[in-house]
Amino acid sequence: MKEIHVAGTASRGIVVSHVLKYEEPDYTPSGGGITAEQAEAEQETFEHARQAVKAALGELAAQSDIFAAHLAIMDDFVLLESVGGRIAGEHKNAQAAVHETIEELASMFDVIDDPYMRERGADVRDIGKRLMAELKGITPPDLGNLKHEGIVAARELYPSDMVRLDPALVKGIITEEGGVTSHVSIIAGSLGIPVLAGVGPVLDELEEDMMVCMDAGEGILVLDPDEETLSRYRARREASERERLHLKRLRTMPAATKNGRRIRLCVNAGSIQEIENALPMNIDGVGLFRSELLYMESTQFPTEEEQFEVYKKAAILCPGELTVRTLDIGGDKALSYFELDREENPFLGWRAIRISLDMKDMFKQQLRAILRAGAFGHVRILFPMLISLEELRQAKAVVRECMEELQMEQTAFDGKMEIGMMIETPASVLLAEEFAREADFFSIGTNDLTQYLLAVDRGNTRLAGRYDYFHPAVLKAIAHVIEAGHRQGIPVGMCGEMAGDLQAVPILLKMGLDEFSMSAGSIDYVREKILKAEL
Ligand code: PEP
Ligand code: MG
Repeated sequence: MKEIHVAGTASRGIVVSHVLKYEEPDYTPSGGGITAEQAEAEQETFEHARQAVKAALGELAAQSDIFAAHLAIMDDFVLLESVGGRIAGEHKNAQAAVHETIEELASMFDVIDDPYMRERGADVRDIGKRLMAELKGITPPDLGNLKHEGIVAARELYPSDMVRLDPALVKGIITEEGGVTSHVSIIAGSLGIPVLAGVGPVLDELEEDMMVCMDAGEGILVLDPDEETLSRYRARREASERERLHLKRLRTMPAATKNGRRIRLCVNAGSIQEIENALPMNIDGVGLFRSELLYMESTQFPTEEEQFEVYKKAAILCPGELTVRTLDIGGDKALSYFELDREENPFLGWRAIRISLDMKDMFKQQLRAILRAGAFGHVRILFPMLISLEELRQAKAVVRECMEELQMEQTAFDGKMEIGMMIETPASVLLAEEFAREADFFSIGTNDLTQYLLAVDRGNTRLAGRYDYFHPAVLKAIAHVIEAGHRQGIPVGMCGEMAGDLQAVPILLKMGLDEFSMSAGSIDYVREKILKAEL
């Protein structure tokens, strides 16, 4: 018996079952160098594979936006140029050219601190695997073809592995690599399958059909458990199943405290798919739509039209307010097509609203797209990282300019769109009262606020113990912001991770927080906590 602990989990649930090892074929390129005369034939080989993959993705795109995004990457200029350049210029064969290009593109995401953005590299690698399978004539293993039920254990899984997965057979998923914000975790979450992602090297220790126990919520994996452990986990599994059923039944109830204070319960999303996944949970809206994902999955700044299509779709889907945060890059989030100068302190550097205000044309394209989407649903604008009233006024002036243009062009838009701001810098906390007179709502971003208030890097694992949103300074800041907002009559929400922390919920309720926005996996649990709360 061996117990492994995993830090950071997004799903919950207890599973006791057999291991089903998911062995990956060898996707490494064979051969490598070619002669100049062979380049044309290799280019054709690549094109052939690309068209085959596009056809396969085309069928899947109708089922899921994840694959629609993959399909778009297949026509990507950078991908085509880079593979073509390696074949024609460096005389590599198609396999080597694809392998190197995919690694180069995916590794841009690897260095990003933000786990959500980092996981997008997995999407690029997924496309690479499809291309390599096509080029090498490999049929990848199939999760739709399992011999019996069990816990799938893999080095890493990709969205394409999940397509044919049978939720009746896959009781749980363990991956050595990957994280809680990977698309695989998101898809599994929506299917109600518990996941332990990023458990480290365990495959060698796992034998096919070995019994394992997993507690996805606590991040515990037990290999080859003894009888006592087995029966303990089986009892806990039954209790957790009962809890899940109970929480599901509560979904029909609007989130309100025992004494009747209605609280808005919202989801944080980066894509249409994530909104869809949260809909069965009876959400009040999207408290944070991280628009940067749209920019990161693209290979050039997405046009107004491209953005409009996404925001419009989201607005139509969303049951209540859709809060679109304007581009928040810089810090740890990069764009492959937009080189930021190296900075000594990127988190204190040119990021978020600072970039938007300096690059007005790009900013306007995004604002116009958001305003136009407002004609199709209840949409709100959220500005990140503000430190001064001048910035808020400047940003609002650009919104007004966009509104005037749209009016002149006789394009439909929401002329009364609410404009809110993230409270995530110490300056915005201290100026909360002044900001509240000019913003329509606040959303507290505790992820950044904690790092800036405590001077503790949010991504530095060595400082993980010091990064604490229960620190009295953070709590005092939150209380101050809520009071200031309420004094000026505006609602105050929270979209940082703290909003989904069950220990934090009663404290935040007492402070008067109006809206809790979090990843989908926490919503059922936070609703129950709110329903039980008596203020
Ligand atoms: C935050 O800072 O709390 C937040 C929600 O924004 P992000 O995590 O995207 O920086
Ligand atoms: Mg932030």
